[in-house]
Amino acid sequence: MNRFDYIKPASVPEAVAAAALPGSAYLAGGTNLLDLMKGSAARPARIVDITRLPGLDRIEWLLDGGVRFGALVRNSDLAYDTRFSRTFPAIAEALLSGASAQLRNAATVGGNLMQRTRCAYFHDQASACNRRTPGSGCDARDGENRLHAVLGWSDNCIATHASDLCVPLVALDAVVEVEGPQGAREIPLDQLHLLPGTTPDQETTLAPGELIVAVRLPASAAAFAHHTRYLKLRERTSYAFAIVSAAAALEIEGNVIRGARLALGGVAAKPWRAREAEALLIGERLTATAFAKAADLALAEARPSGDNAFKIELARRIVVRSLNLATEGTPEVMPALPASPFSTIPGAQHVA
Ligand SMILES: Cc1cc2nc3c(=O)[nH]c(=O)nc-3n(C[C@H](O)[C@H](O)[C@H](O)COP(=O)(O)OP(=O)(O)OC[C@H]3O[C@@H](n4cnc5c(N)ncnc54)[C@H](O)[C@@H]3O)c2cc1C
Ligand code: SF4
Repeated sequence: MNRFDYIKPASVPEAVAAAALPGSAYLAGGTNLLDLMKGSAARPARIVDITRLPGLDRIEWLLDGGVRFGALVRNSDLAYDTRFSRTFPAIAEALLSGASAQLRNAATVGGNLMQRTRCAYFHDQASACNRRTPGSGCDARDGENRLHAVLGWSDNCIATHASDLCVPLVALDAVVEVEGPQGAREIPLDQLHLLPGTTPDQETTLAPGELIVAVRLPASAAAFAHHTRYLKLRERTSYAFAIVSAAAALEIEGNVIRGARLALGGVAAKPWRAREAEALLIGERLTATAFAKAADLALAEARPSGDNAFKIELARRIVVRSLNLATEGTPEVMPALPASPFSTIPGAQHVA
């Protein structure tokens, strides 16, 4: 490991001031950053430990019915908060499908949003990687790339973003609250992560030193509580990142779709909101034809980046399946399917 300074600020302004210096990195749960440092894929000159910053570990219900949760809320605490999981079940489902129980107990909301790609070449110091070392090339292009991006990639980088949490969050119009050297600002989550283009090393729109302090969901997101699911396909039934995933949320009146939200994970360098597919669904009846058309539209611009053409068809199918399951209605108690971890909620009963 490389030498670094360690700073433990007592307040958000102190943290922001410390991290404004070049080469700084915030430390939250450490489940991603410390791994990267041990393998030298990250070499911060200064660690700004935010774990004891006051006020960032709260879930606050807003008067209008929305919710605001701090960047230091643990993934497991958010998923197991009864009111939160009832109001935003697909988000709880996404959180509980990620990593292992131990990791979820340590991982934080802010760290999950800001986690780096799992591209193996990014982690391997012997490989060329434009994201780690700009201009060095991309060994994934002709390498082992069956899990890489099928949407929004460029010849400079074909990595995907790994977060499960971000997928339903982006579908539900989450907003990220940020404090930085220039003050406070808000960023729609859809605009936080960047596609690679010619500068894959620029992964987010955060400026140097900017700290995520909270995430907010508008009251309108709660309208989808009764018809929403997050589905994740992975190579084994637990403890694995998504090959592809989908968050689907519907507002249904009679047999007609009045509101639709759809986002995909594991397909691009950012959580992928399928807005055109959503627009197509509104006003449609709940039919297999409408869902198939929406899936086709969501993947219309997809193209393989290597050995991963199968992901395009897989993504289409998971879109259709998530829409079908959302139509059936959010289960009161989630089934104990491998892809659905709700049965692990304390007090919840298995129904399968
Ligand atoms: C074996 C394994 C399996 C995993 N499986 C999954 C999975 O299936 N699904 C999934 O979604 N994730 C998975 N993860 C990733 C895990 O969820 C992330 O490591 C975790 O969410 C990161 O949170 P953290 O608090 O530990 O972040 P840290 O490791 O502390 O930080 C991660 C990054 O975010 C930055 N950061 C942290 N907090 C802030 C903030 N408030 N503002 C600005 N920047 C910040 C840090 O500087 C760092 O660059 C897995 C991880 C491991 C090790
Ligand atoms: S896909 Fe991106 S992260 Fe992976 S090696 Fe290529 S440039 Fe690096």
